[in-house]
Amino acid sequence: MPQSNTDTFDLAVVGGGIFGMSIAYRALKAGLKTIVIEKDMVGAGSSGGVLGALMPHMPARWNPKKEFQFQSLMRMEAVLHQLERETGLSTGYRRCARILPITTQDKLEHHQERAEEAKERWHPLETGFTYEVEPKGSRSEWLSAASAPFGIVYETLAARVAPRAYLAALAAYVREHGKLLEGVAFEDFDGQSGEIVLLGAPDRTPKRIKAQRLVLATGSASFEQLERMTGEMIGRGEKGQALIMEGKGLEDLPAIYCDGLYVVPHDDGTVAIGSTSDRFFDDEVVNPDRSAELVARATAFCPALAGRQVLEEWAGIRPRCNKRDALVGPLPGRANTYVATGGFKISFGIAHLIADALVCDLTGSATEVPLPPSYLPGHHFS
Ligand SMILES: Cc1cc2nc3c(=O)[nH]c(=O)nc-3n(C[C@H](O)[C@H](O)[C@H](O)COP(=O)(O)OP(=O)(O)OC[C@H]3O[C@@H](n4cnc5c(N)ncnc54)[C@H](O)[C@@H]3O)c2cc1C
Repeated sequence: MPQSNTDTFDLAVVGGGIFGMSIAYRALKAGLKTIVIEKDMVGAGSSGGVLGALMPHMPARWNPKKEFQFQSLMRMEAVLHQLERETGLSTGYRRCARILPITTQDKLEHHQERAEEAKERWHPLETGFTYEVEPKGSRSEWLSAASAPFGIVYETLAARVAPRAYLAALAAYVREHGKLLEGVAFEDFDGQSGEIVLLGAPDRTPKRIKAQRLVLATGSASFEQLERMTGEMIGRGEKGQALIMEGKGLEDLPAIYCDGLYVVPHDDGTVAIGSTSDRFFDDEVVNPDRSAELVARATAFCPALAGRQVLEEWAGIRPRCNKRDALVGPLPGRANTYVATGGFKISFGIAHLIADALVCDLTGSATEVPLPPSYLPGHHFS
């Protein structure tokens, strides 16, 4: 019998970012024969950055989207610890908590209301997560007292992860239990025949790959691909910049969100600072002026950073749907084709639960936490 020249999979995931890799990891755990197709390498897109902030939505005007993110952040520790046990690799995860400055009397009153709402929404007695207002001068060895004239919020749900380490752990699992094809670009998928058209396949790639179902998780590139497939442009890329500074001795401190910036200490003795946000941009590379601006702003509210060396500057293009929320589910008008994109600034904290919901949909099993209606394709496509 001649050998078949076709590799056939239950699921093909296109894109080796945090969405694609999380979906592949979850699919492999569900027993699906899975391949990831990545045009460059895992983390080549916006997931290969440095910040890794896992920050909750505010406990105010609660809605299904906030509840979904809360459930996701709450479950994250268990998911990452399991991944670390399975692969022997650290993800740099820590429930680090977060400080927010309070700058006016009005904002103090808002935060007091949020603290009350958190008591209802975050279930502190069961979960241990609190959102509390502390007086002026609290934790001023880290966030300068001058930046918080009306006190601070200290909340304990926030966490952080090392983005590249998290991706490396997911990639290790996928390599061992499934297939990870890097350096090969996806071009098209025929959902009826299962045929996947690839570009730039190196010699080692089987001539043809087929999959019963395909998930497009190509970040900011997804929007043009979706437009080709559906005729609708439903999102765009938005440029952002972040950087890492030397941060020895700061590893155990909480994250800060001040002046629109995150300061996030990491286990490896670095502190990440970000981000800028540019809707319109000419290129995807680091702009040194924007980096200098990040350092100046962060040092102003966080004097412990003064004089520390900048170790790396980084720029990436975040995927953002026009309707703001992530998009997850079956693609209208295309058989067996799914999409997961548009996590914008919160992808790392929701990716594992998005993966869970999507894979449950694919396998016909019940998900513990359903996707919020605003994540579903019906919300994004006309
Ligand atoms: C400066 C900055 C700071 C950020 N900080 C945070 C943060 O602190 N916390 C947080 O949660 N989020 C943060 N984000 C947002 C987060 O990084 C993104 O939302 C997330 O990385 C999107 O993941 P993704 O998997 O959808 O896309 P990506 O990571 O962009 O992955 C898409 C992948 O698809 C591949 N691809 C594209 N086209 C093809 C094709 N035709 N064939 C095969 N492969 C293809 C790309 O090479 C890429 O690897 C930040 C973003 C930026 C820019």
